[in-house]
Amino acid sequence: MEAKQLQTLKQNNALLCQFIVKLSAFYEGFSDKIDTELKVLRGHLSGTPNFSLAAVSIEKLNKLLQHQEITLRKYSVDTVSSLEDAMKQLQKIVFEDTELKGLTTQELIKLNQPVDDIFSIYKLYSKAIALHRIALNKEMVGLEPSETTETKSTNNESTSARSIKDDNPHYRSILVELNHLIASYAQKKPNDQQLNDIKQRLDEGMDEDQLLKSCVVILRMIVQDAMSEASLTGKVIQSLHRSLGEVSSDVSNTIQGSQAQFQQRQAGNEQLKRDIIHIEEAVSESSSLEALKEQTQFRVEKLVTTLSEQQSNDQQGQEALMALLSSMQSRIDTLQQQTSVYKKKLAEQAMQSRTDPLTRLPNRQAYNERLEAAFTKFKENGDLLAVAVVDIDHFKSINDRFGHAAGDKTLQVVSKFLKQSLSENDFIARWGGEEFVMLLPQAQMADIDKKLNEVRTKLAAMPFKFKQEKVKITASFGATCFNDNDTTETVFERADEYLYRAKRNGRNLVVTDLSTDL
Ligand code: GH3
Ligand code: MG
Ligand code: MG
Repeated sequence: MEAKQLQTLKQNNALLCQFIVKLSAFYEGFSDKIDTELKVLRGHLSGTPNFSLAAVSIEKLNKLLQHQEITLRKYSVDTVSSLEDAMKQLQKIVFEDTELKGLTTQELIKLNQPVDDIFSIYKLYSKAIALHRIALNKEMVGLEPSETTETKSTNNESTSARSIKDDNPHYRSILVELNHLIASYAQKKPNDQQLNDIKQRLDEGMDEDQLLKSCVVILRMIVQDAMSEASLTGKVIQSLHRSLGEVSSDVSNTIQGSQAQFQQRQAGNEQLKRDIIHIEEAVSESSSLEALKEQTQFRVEKLVTTLSEQQSNDQQGQEALMALLSSMQSRIDTLQQQTSVYKKKLAEQAMQSRTDPLTRLPNRQAYNERLEAAFTKFKENGDLLAVAVVDIDHFKSINDRFGHAAGDKTLQVVSKFLKQSLSENDFIARWGGEEFVMLLPQAQMADIDKKLNEVRTKLAAMPFKFKQEKVKITASFGATCFNDNDTTETVFERADEYLYRAKRNGRNLVVTDLSTDL
């Protein structure tokens, strides 16, 4: 071999050694064993290479690489498919959040495209982590029961409360009912510690045991309240009896008194008559003027005595009567005061029984009474009358994402807004849950359609914010006019059917008799 050829070969060898050293350094971190052997190989190839030791090392490395099951390509494919699973799960959880749902869809599209190099997987990873983080901040992740064993083993209180909710269909309805009861009692007793505790625990999430205990506390409160109401009624009736008894004895005393007085007066009158007869007799029988004078003087004196006795009797009677009258008057005043307090209380109760405690809107009972009256008018005069039902869209997700208290607050705000949006003649009641019912008299359906659409758009534009997150609240509407053949039930069923159509057609819609296309 010529010296020049040998020189080139040496140069190539040195170049190859450098390359192998660099390549092995680049792949450091792939596997522990390979790393160690690559380090040995690098040692043999650096400086003055020792090819026979390098050959041993290369032999060992070959074996190690043969037994290495995972290749970078397979690693990439596996990683991408596990990322894809994670994104699909996230998408299911955030399906109600349009923005997050869009971002996860974009990420899924990227995951379905071929992965060029191992580094692009890191980008996909960091994007997936960022999306999970956003969802976590919105408290979406972790709210849904997960199938992974990981979440099962890290079970906490809120997941155990959730499992009860899932297992027991009555759980939520009892919670809602309890919330209603608490709302009505919280008004009466705003400082009641027990009530406030239950309210707070309700907001935080209760398990079955706590729920039962809270129900018992509220039941006790209701019974106590009913008893005190009953005792109040009893007290008022008792005092009424007492006062009436006293008044009636006063009256009989007065009657007796006046009877005695009447007899006295009659006797006095008899005496007067007799005195006058005596004077007449004395005048006719008297023989001398002197005797007549004497007789007359005597009789007139008697007459004056009788008259003044009569006068004093009259005065006493009058005074007694006045005293009786004034005592009767004061008794009647007290009685009037008591009955007016009682009447006010009864009116308050009647009002409460027709008012929904959470939203302060009239309740279903009030609606039914109002409907009967309006329906009678419609039958008698043929006045225009329409019924509209309103249901907040996806309300459950407000409760699920932000808690029951946020749901309650939303109901209050929406109720106030709906009430304010109606005219004086219109009527709105809470039908139950997140549903409302309206009675709209004296309006054509075209006007009602327009008005409800205005209400719908305004509501959708209202700025709701929970936990720093802006939330859009919308509602669906169904409205129909009374026809000649309608009953109160058929009208409601038709309005409800329209509402259902509004929901089916995407929600945040008004469907009325005029919506022929839906
Ligand atoms: P849709 O658009 O189909 O009407 O969906 P939605 O979620 O509004 O309807 P759904 O009937 O599934 O859920 C209504 C929820 O309203 C369920 C119940 O927990 C909640 N809810 C009912 N009454 C109250 C209440 O007084 N307070 C709170 N916070 N939630 C209530
Ligand atoms: Mg509903
Ligand atoms: Mg709803």
